Amino acid sequence: MRRLLLLSFAMSACAPAAPDPSPLDAVATQYVVLALSMGQHDANYVDAYYGPDSLRAIADRDALSLEAITAGVDSLSAILGDVVPAYADSMDQMRHRYLRTQLGSMAFRARMLAGEQSRFDVEARGLYDATPPHFDDAHFDSLLSALDQLIPGDASLAERYQAFRARVMIPAAQVDTVFKVAIAACRARTMAHLPLPEGERFDLEYLTGTSWNAYNWYQGGSVSLIQVNLDFPIAVDRAIDLACHEGYPGHHVYNASLERALVDERGWVELSVYPLFSPQSLIAEGSANYGIEMAFPGEARTAFERDSLFPLAGLDPAIAEQNAAVREAMAGLNYARNMVARRYLDGEIDSTAAVAAMEHYWLQEPAAAAKTLRFIETYRSYVINYNLGRDMVAQYVERVGGAEMSERWRVFGELLASPRLPGDLAPRP
Ligand SMILES: [Zn+2]
Repeated sequence: MRRLLLLSFAMSACAPAAPDPSPLDAVATQYVVLALSMGQHDANYVDAYYGPDSLRAIADRDALSLEAITAGVDSLSAILGDVVPAYADSMDQMRHRYLRTQLGSMAFRARMLAGEQSRFDVEARGLYDATPPHFDDAHFDSLLSALDQLIPGDASLAERYQAFRARVMIPAAQVDTVFKVAIAACRARTMAHLPLPEGERFDLEYLTGTSWNAYNWYQGGSVSLIQVNLDFPIAVDRAIDLACHEGYPGHHVYNASLERALVDERGWVELSVYPLFSPQSLIAEGSANYGIEMAFPGEARTAFERDSLFPLAGLDPAIAEQNAAVREAMAGLNYARNMVARRYLDGEIDSTAAVAAMEHYWLQEPAAAAKTLRFIETYRSYVINYNLGRDMVAQYVERVGGAEMSERWRVFGELLASPRLPGDLAPRP
């Protein structure tokens, strides 16, 4: 790491006002090596890498300890400094801030892996550069009351909810067909607004036994592998969720856009690695979830489900509207998973109480609640990226893009093709 010392962002008195961005390339290269080195200590850390093999070879050869990684990260962070210089190109400014912020998160994760413990909110800020909101039980109880009105009956709310959900499950034999129709619709609706790279595609696989429900493994070259877990029956809602979130305009499009705009066109190697436990994940999960509303704004989603997916799955289209209302009522309860994760990881409740809380606030059956707990144990404060990320991306796109969908798509497309992080979404003073 000695050669890092040769880099400098210091501006001398006679230098032009805007600094030279080229030293960022050397920092970026070292950042990639350090991220790949983290992957040797944390199997989930490197979510995707399609950069030069030579950098992986360096990481493999050096086999850095966590202490050495932390020292390397600190060196790079010191080079970048705490203040982002005013580059001539605002993209360089964002790039500098991206590297500095991602490095800060990497140092936090390295200290976690070395045994340092933090409370949930501190971890969320350290890894994802965002502060999750707190809601009290009364807030979630009021959301449950609203849901209660939508599914009348004498049984408990959980029983009524489960009985209703049983009516919208896709028969196993139809899952692949329904998914493929949903994917084609999400792709067409995305392509109407965003140019997609030539030859882009994703492959779909089904499997069981994972802690997640679906995963996009970006391969590089505008190709993704999307895996779907079939441990539990799949509700018809999941078709659009999966197609938009994992595919279009979600993870697949985000990764392909970063690759084309930043890695291929600008040569920014740092975007060829995607560290999962990093602020970039808030943008990834947030844009993937908000992407559902981008592709299917307003009533469009419910209409498509009612007219296409329900009949295809052999379900009764007459309950599509009720299903959509239930889905909307459940959306706010996604924050209950954050609350349960916080209490469980902070040691305020044990695993039995955590499963019981998921059954109560997410109306999950015991086996599904246990699976949620496995997810929380593996991914910890990552859970905030789905709902807080969605809300932050929505506020950003709607504030900057206004009410017109065409403007929202422009802003959303720019977000997907930029190194924007959570700190870039807030209004600038
Ligand atoms: Zn995701």
